[in-house]
Order: sequence, then structure tokens, then C-alpha cells
Amino acid sequence: MSDIGKLVQDPPKGPIEPVRLGLDDVIQFHCRPGIACWNACCRSIDIQLTPYDVLRLSRRLGIPTWRFLAEHAVQFDLDPHGMPGIKLKPVEGGTECRFLREEGCGVYEDRPAACRYYALGAMGLRRMGTSEVEDIYFLVKEPHCLGHKEPRRITIREYRREQGVEKYDDMNREWREIVLKKRSSGPTIGAPSERSFDLFFMASYDLDSFRLFTQSEGFREMFDLPEAELKRLEEDDEALLAFAMRFLKQVLFGEQTIPLRPGARERRLARRKDKIEQRLKAEAARREAHDPRYDEPGEDEGKGKSD
Ligand code: SF4
Ligand code: SF4
Repeated sequence: MSDIGKLVQDPPKGPIEPVRLGLDDVIQFHCRPGIACWNACCRSIDIQLTPYDVLRLSRRLGIPTWRFLAEHAVQFDLDPHGMPGIKLKPVEGGTECRFLREEGCGVYEDRPAACRYYALGAMGLRRMGTSEVEDIYFLVKEPHCLGHKEPRRITIREYRREQGVEKYDDMNREWREIVLKKRSSGPTIGAPSERSFDLFFMASYDLDSFRLFTQSEGFREMFDLPEAELKRLEEDDEALLAFAMRFLKQVLFGEQTIPLRPGARERRLARRKDKIEQRLKAEAARREAHDPRYDEPGEDEGKGKSD
């Protein structure tokens, strides 16, 4: 399934029909059980995962997101700065999807958005100077896929509905906007710090760790959220994902939508200053301990010249 509906911002590589399609355009395509190429597209995968994909798949497998990431995903760079993206890991030593079973997709109801879109490529374009993301679509025609020879005609709108893509797009919309904004912000926002990428990774893909973070003392000291909202974040995955996007916008772009406790920022800065000072002192002590200039004179030293 190389170049399956690429969904975020990279134009699909490979055999794209060079025609930009909109929601009401009609395509000729039908993927159905019994077709001669059944599952051929799952034998050589290159599937980028979105935050909602990770959530659905980890819940499907009954494991926390951090375990899903460790076992089923590989990281790659979404941009030249190293903004982290993830892809589905194929089977060990091969190119086939790890969820492919003899009868078909083993996670069909929770398959990633890219699998749902195929054989469409979808990407978001952000207009210069706005946060608006426009969705455009392409047909991806790979020789192994016989779905293009089937007589069925369908609009992109109908196809998206049939494949259950709409929910995925809704849940990922803000994330796509963040990625596009981050990628196109360039020098106005400056080179992103490693810390901002760590937060981006956690809030985007590792929602179970993000949940623990929202329950931490540090978080609660910093942000002034009503108990009812904190409880919702504890129990509701989709509310947590939506909140994670709010959090990222605040951290990455300074969009203040999560109220801070009075003096929280100052307290945090003071704590950070203390930590930096402690680290510097510890480093100085460590250097002194290993620097021969600070060593106690040994037996041979101090005798030298007078001997
Ligand atoms: S998740 Fe399912 S549909 Fe997607 S590549 Fe794997 S087996 Fe195929
Ligand atoms: S028709 Fe295309 S999408 Fe469907 S199983 Fe065959 S190769 Fe995969």
C-alpha cells in the first residue's frame, strides 16, 4: 500500500493521476472482497499514522499508546527540523503489514485513515497567511490495484463516507493545522527546541503519557482547569485528544486558551532557574573532582625541585 492516501501534507509519491479532485468529483474505483488483487496493497506498506490512528489502533489492541508506539510504529522526520512523524512498522524483516491476516485486514474497523483513503491520495494545503487548510485529492493508480478497472463510479464525498474517513479527518483536523503551521512558520518562530518536539510527540501520539502528564502535580500547579474538565480528560480519550491539540497550540504558538494559575509562569521560571543553577554547581563540582589542578599533592609532588 505504498503511497496510500497520504493525508497530511506531503504529495503522494508514485503513480498519481495529475488531476486535482474535489469532493464532488467522480472517480471510477471499487475495492471489494473477491477482487483478484485482494490485499495486494497491504503487502508493501508505507503508512503514515495520525494521532487518531494511534488512538484507535491502541484501543483495538488493548494496549497503552506508549506500548503501541514501541511495538508497532517507527519514527521519521516530518520536516527538515526533525518534527517527529510515525509510520506503521511492517512485519519483521519484510514489507507486509503486520495486521494482515489470511482473511484480510485484522484491524479493519480501526484501520488507519491512509488505508481508508486508498486509492485516493489526500493532502492539506495551507494558504499563505491563514490557518485555513484546504483538502485536495488525487487518484493513485498502482499497477497491482485492479479496483480502477471496476465499473463503479462514485464521488469523493460518497467514497469518504463509505470508508468512514470523515470521523478520522475531524479528529485529526487541528493536528494537521498544527503540523502545517509549524512547518511553514520558518524563522519567524525560530528553530524548534528539542523540548517542543518531545511535547509534540507526546501530545500527538502518546496520549496515555499525555494523560498522566495532565494528572501530574506540575501540570495542575501550572494550569487552572475545573475539576470536571480534569475528570473528563481522565476518562474520555477523544476529549483528551482535543485538549492535547489545545495544549500544543499554546506551547508551540502561544495561543493562550488554557488558563494559567496566577504566578504559575513566574514560579516555573524560578524553579527552572534553580534547577539550572544546581546543575551548573554540580557540573563545577564534578569538574573540580576530576581536574588534576585541584588534586591534593601526592607523595612525589612538592619534593621535586629542592631534591
Ligand atoms: S491496517 Fe489493514 S488495511 Fe491497512 S495495510 Fe494493514 S492490513 Fe491493510
Ligand atoms: S482493489 Fe486496490 S485497494 Fe482493493 S484490495 Fe485490490 S489493490 Fe487493494
